[in-house]
Amino acid sequence: MSISIEAYRQIVGTQFIDELYRIAEHINGRSIQHINSTPVGGGVAEILHRLVPLTNELGVKATWDVIKGSEEFFNVTKAFHNALHGSGNDITGEMFGIFRETTRDNLGTMNLYGDVIMIHDPQPAGLIAKKNEIGRKWAWRCHIDVSQPNKNLWEFLREYVVQYHASIFSMPDFSQQLPIPQFLIAPSIDPLADKNRELEQSFIDSVLEKYELDPERPIITQISRFDRLKDPIGVIKAYRIVKKRYDDIQLVLAGGGASDDPEGAAVLQKAQEMGADDQDIKILLLPAYSDKEINALQRASTVVLQKSIKEGFGLTVTEAMWKRKPVIGGATGGIRKQIIDGVTGYLVHTVEGTARRIIDILNNPKHADEMARNGYEHVRNNFLLTRHLKDYLLVMIALERDGSDVIEL
Ligand code: UDP
Repeated sequence: MSISIEAYRQIVGTQFIDELYRIAEHINGRSIQHINSTPVGGGVAEILHRLVPLTNELGVKATWDVIKGSEEFFNVTKAFHNALHGSGNDITGEMFGIFRETTRDNLGTMNLYGDVIMIHDPQPAGLIAKKNEIGRKWAWRCHIDVSQPNKNLWEFLREYVVQYHASIFSMPDFSQQLPIPQFLIAPSIDPLADKNRELEQSFIDSVLEKYELDPERPIITQISRFDRLKDPIGVIKAYRIVKKRYDDIQLVLAGGGASDDPEGAAVLQKAQEMGADDQDIKILLLPAYSDKEINALQRASTVVLQKSIKEGFGLTVTEAMWKRKPVIGGATGGIRKQIIDGVTGYLVHTVEGTARRIIDILNNPKHADEMARNGYEHVRNNFLLTRHLKDYLLVMIALERDGSDVIEL
């Protein structure tokens, strides 16, 4: 069931929603077709599920299609994904061959009909080969960090990318120099999705009971995949320092399955070993689609950590700030864009720094509340789904008026 755009009025203000309708009027009956590589799983699909119906509700026709590919193709694009992030450099000519072949198959079978065609991420990037035949306006929406990619792979992808009318990146730090216009559009969270909406206290209480957490004592939480770069081990070390002074604190490390990621499994095991002798450390392996439980854990927390060593945007930070929690985040990637140190949360570089900031928050709840309120406003103004929607509408207008120096709205 999709939630109406009207439901967002009370969250972002009625003026903002009116503005969306006004912008939509300038799109003059033109349509947008989103294309990605999966209908479920992952942040891109999650956002499209919400954005597409909302765009339609504003009177702009939006559709969403998914390319088809074999398991082999998706193994290749997974390797591409890692290599674009600068890790795992074994990209072969055979892989390029498989990518081209799947692209050809999809070019043969897919209906490309949008006035604006927005292609998400590298997997469907090759569909641009149809541009000369069918015209339309084409945008390549890149959700990943390609600032330090495997060189051969980037050369290969770049040949497709430069044919687009525009590229869209999530942050300046993630992008590449390209000879086409570039839009910067930050990610967003949906305040009405299960992961973020208000919850009944009874549900939050039931989650705490399930995981044997005491609601009367402080709870420090980090929600993330068990990945070395998310630094769950550093989190436990920081907790231990704080525990010496505040022996009533509890720690929750909650994250998804690491079964297909050997490195992740080792990190999880180490965390479990470190936590084994302390009943106040809860290491929770959450199944997929635990959105409501994650929401409850975040809402029940006294402090939320995201002590990453390297990070993409860091949506867990956005989610926690939206729940008016004081957040401590590693000074990296998109966390730096969200946390203004001392104002919307604390930025940290070390285990010791993290421990100190946890203590600051426990010692000074008034300042912690103030940061949490600022964080909430920062997210409300910058990182909600409705802002994302507005940005996509503006991209449609900009593409339609390609070449104009002034776009009057
Ligand atoms: N998340 C989840 N289950 C887990 C761990 C994380 O659903 O076990 C969610 C989390 O709430 C957030 C997203 O996955 O919405 C992670 O996004 P983020 O940008 O923080 O990190 P990524 O995992 O993409 O590096």
